[in-house]
Formats: sequence, structure tokens, C-alpha cells
Amino acid sequence: MTTDAGDLKFRDPETAQEIAADIEAQMERIGESIEIMHVCGSHEQVIAKFGLRSMLPDDLSVTMGPGCPVCVTNMPEVDEAVALAEAGKTVVTYGDMFKVPGSARSLADAKADGASVEVIYSASEAVELAEDNPEEDVVFFATGFETTAAPTAAVLQADPPENFYVLSAHKYVPPAMEVVAEMPDTDVDAFLAAGHAATITGYGLFEDFVEEYDLPVVVGGFEPLDVLYGVRRILAFIEAGEGGLDNAYPRCVSREGNTAAMGAIEDVFTRTSGEWRGIADIPDANFELNETYADHSARKQFDIEGVEGDADPLTEECICGDIMAGTASPEGCALFGEECTPQNPVGACMVSDEGTCKIWHEYGGKPDL
Ligand code: SF4
Repeated sequence: MTTDAGDLKFRDPETAQEIAADIEAQMERIGESIEIMHVCGSHEQVIAKFGLRSMLPDDLSVTMGPGCPVCVTNMPEVDEAVALAEAGKTVVTYGDMFKVPGSARSLADAKADGASVEVIYSASEAVELAEDNPEEDVVFFATGFETTAAPTAAVLQADPPENFYVLSAHKYVPPAMEVVAEMPDTDVDAFLAAGHAATITGYGLFEDFVEEYDLPVVVGGFEPLDVLYGVRRILAFIEAGEGGLDNAYPRCVSREGNTAAMGAIEDVFTRTSGEWRGIADIPDANFELNETYADHSARKQFDIEGVEGDADPLTEECICGDIMAGTASPEGCALFGEECTPQNPVGACMVSDEGTCKIWHEYGGKPDL
């Protein structure tokens, strides 16, 4: 192996071929099938966009786990947002959440029926909307992992207007990795951890996980060579027969992470157990506003009624949860590209730009990835 992380030019084809050759040699020495799970839609996008799977040996699979925050947002959480919109609140959320189906309806459905639903691009934009419309109750349906939980925490710390509320569906990834690692149907040999979340949490966060599960965890960036380098580093651990932790994204990630952002998250949120859509009830993996910020908690300030309507019967056939648990792929879903498309999504994995089904659909399915 002659290329080190510091030498990467991120998209250089010759270097990519060189690392791919290293990976092939590593797999020959390892002599058995290996499954690496990444937990990030951005990783899946770069893998698909640059066709990286086509560079890997057949006995090395790189699958996507619970790394799409929109996809793991649970149906009852979407139902809460829809119910608030139908009750006359102004609900604002990130664009990916707009078309995600709840048990019967999406926010897009509610807006089509006249509810006030707006797409925003940042937590601060949600606050500005509340400031500009003091007569309205503005509810920010806040989703995403640590990277978006931090700005939600920051706007709450900055004394937002009284009519600003947060319906938190923020989630915390490490407990989900533990659940996936323990699932009887999964056979994950290592994790490629998300570099952007680690810029907030720091890669030191994974030290306990590595010690408990004795698996390799490598934090990876989002250029093609970042991913290939991360895979090669993981295989080095596996070849050595050991777990271990490494940071293959040192240009952005430190061991400590962004301590100010983590401080804000810890100040504003408490961690609770809750269902991740289609995967499992995961302990301590949901971020809920703590008592200090109860005045801005939509769940604490409003009685949230149920949502009326019939569920899409096709929803029963959606295997999005299995895909995010790493036990199935979009190819295993009979609806993929047929009844379920980005224009008419049945499941959340086909809605979000970070969803495996949408990414695979966009890039032509597995053979082209
Ligand atoms: Fe669900 Fe659609 Fe993906 Fe099938 S293709 S698993 S229905 S999101």
C-alpha cells in the first residue's frame, strides 16, 4: 500500500485504481466474504454516483445501514406534524420530509388540502418565519442526526420568539449501530462511519463501541477516494484480526469534534428511547427537548390529535426497514421502480435524496453502481 490519507486528491482515477488493487489483494488474503456497513446517505450517494461497487471484489459488500435521517423518522412522528398542520399551525420542515408518508398522509397531502406547510433550509430560517408571523404558531418539524440537531439546539438557546415551537424527530446514530450490530439477521464485519456527523461528535465517540463489539470502525469522508481509502483501512483491521478505530477524514474530523455544537445539543436535548421506522425501538437514540426548553416543545404545548385517513395498502409491502437494517436491498422490493418511484414514493427510502431506494433509482439500480 503506497497511498496514504494525506496524499489523496479525492477523485484521481489512478489513485482509485491503485487503492482498488490493494483492496482486491487484501480480500484475497482474507479469503472470505466481508460485509461493511456505512451509515450515511451521503456515502451511498458517492458510492452510486461514482460506481464504486463496480471496483470492489464480488465477495466484498458495502451496504447502507440506518443512515438516512428522513427514512428512520417514524410514521407517528410524521403523523404528529401532519396533525399539527391540520390543526392550523404553520409547520415548517426540511424539503426531504415534505413528501414522506405518515400512516395515512404526508405534509404534502396536508398542504394540498390547505394547511400551512413550508419548506425551510435551516433552523434559523424557521425562527425568522416565526418572527415575521407573530400571530401564527410556527412549528419546526426538526429531523436529522447530530449535524442538524446542533443548529436546532443553537436557535433554541438564542431565545427564539414565543410562537416558535420544535417538534423534534432528531436522532442519534451510535445506539442504532449497536442495535444493528446485535441483530441476528445482520452479519456486519465493520462500519464506515459518517464523516459529517463525526465533525460534530468527534471520532472518539466510537471508542466505547469498538471496545464492546471488537469491530473495525473507520470514519470516512465523501469523495470517492475517501470511501475507497476507508474501505482499505477497514480491511487492514480485518486482515490483522482485530477491531479498531481510525479516522480516514482527518481534514474535517478530530477526536473531540465540535465541542461547542455538542455542548448545545447536551444543553437542549435529552435522549429518549423510540422507534426508528421499520428498524427497532432503539434505546437513547431520539433527541427530545428537555424541561428547560419545554415552552418551545410542540409535544408539551399542544394536544396532538390523530390523523384521519386510510393508509396506502402498498405500504405493507415496503421493506425500507429491512434495507436500513442491512438485511435487504432495493432490488428485493417488488415495488422498486414500478409502483414506487421518486414521483410516487411508497416508502420513505424513495423520498429522500439520502434514501437507498431513491439513490439506486437515480443511478440505474445495482448493476450500474
Ligand atoms: Fe419501500 Fe419503495 Fe424502497 Fe420498496 S422501493 S422498499 S416500497 S421505499
